[in-house]
Amino acid sequence: MKIDIQKNIQPKAKPTDHGALGFGKILTDHMLLIDYTREQGWHDARIVPYGPLSLDPATCCLHYGQLIFEGLKAYKTTDGKTVMFRPDQNVKRLNASAKRMCIPAIDEGDLLGAIARLVKVEEGWIPDSPGTSLYIRPFILGTEQFLGVHPSETYTLCVILSPSGPYYKEGLAPVRIYVEDSYVRAVAGGTGTVKCAGNYAASLASQKESQAKGYSQVLWLDGIERRYIEEVGAMNIFFVIDGQVVTPALTGTILPGVTRKSVLEMLSSWGVPTSERKITIQEIADAHKSGVLDEVFGTGTAAVISPVGELRWGDLSMEIGGGKIGALSQKLYDNLTGIQTGKLADPFGWVYEVVG
Ligand SMILES: *Cc1c(COP(=O)(O)O)cnc(C)c1O
Repeated sequence: MKIDIQKNIQPKAKPTDHGALGFGKILTDHMLLIDYTREQGWHDARIVPYGPLSLDPATCCLHYGQLIFEGLKAYKTTDGKTVMFRPDQNVKRLNASAKRMCIPAIDEGDLLGAIARLVKVEEGWIPDSPGTSLYIRPFILGTEQFLGVHPSETYTLCVILSPSGPYYKEGLAPVRIYVEDSYVRAVAGGTGTVKCAGNYAASLASQKESQAKGYSQVLWLDGIERRYIEEVGAMNIFFVIDGQVVTPALTGTILPGVTRKSVLEMLSSWGVPTSERKITIQEIADAHKSGVLDEVFGTGTAAVISPVGELRWGDLSMEIGGGKIGALSQKLYDNLTGIQTGKLADPFGWVYEVVG
């Protein structure tokens, strides 16, 4: 795929205080755009100065939410290379989301190449302090102008980049999580397995209410019986019960996280048995009561591994790990981030080098 590059002649000053970067607040100088029409397919890939998208108020995605996205990261390795972590998985999942939302598929090799090109152009924006990265946000919107409900005839794919700081400033800090027992996130046949914008809009009320109670995120239960554990806001969830690592199976309501998959593959390479199955919240409460709930952690691109220090289910507050990070959580974090930043060898072939 041919990519036109129009350089930004007014580049912004790059942040120097990497500790204050935060997440998703600063955007780089360029973005990637690719258009779709039925006649031309995906075409006109271009890297242009970062700036507003101009949309007619009747643009269909503004009304009916035909909008999907992805999230992945690029890193500067200790020996100065620019790499992305498993980007093939993200372009594949973007197409899976596209399929569910009636958006035409894009050639995965073309898209990967175009993202790599953008990252190369913005290489100077990749922070290199410990725990930092360049967050990559691809998204696709339906752009046809009409007020009827049907799939858009035209689309725009956009990729923007944001230098991001360490997720936890003071190292891996355990988070407090509220078990959501009234709102639901997804049911089988719905859109829980894909990254569509509407899923997140629908989760805001729950997030807001749990935050008012002092919890940082919610743990979703299944939408039918409210018994089975699904996942956290933007993370998958793992439990270590009596030395056994378990995570909810992908049953059509859970987002198949790349970090989740990587953790399962890494654990199995270490010979640690894992099981993907149904887990009730009662089973977790029982394990906690009998003192065998060793560790709980979330997995996702943003935080990589996020230890859970407290789970609150109704009146029951379960404290996990005594405010400390579990040994397995720490080991997974060290190994994943070690591979991502080139400090450790990559026996899995997960790291994709961005070359000129
Ligand atoms: C993105 C996301 C995850 C984590 O996926 P990763 O590929 O590991 O970043 C988990 N759950 C939800 C709902 C998500 O949106």
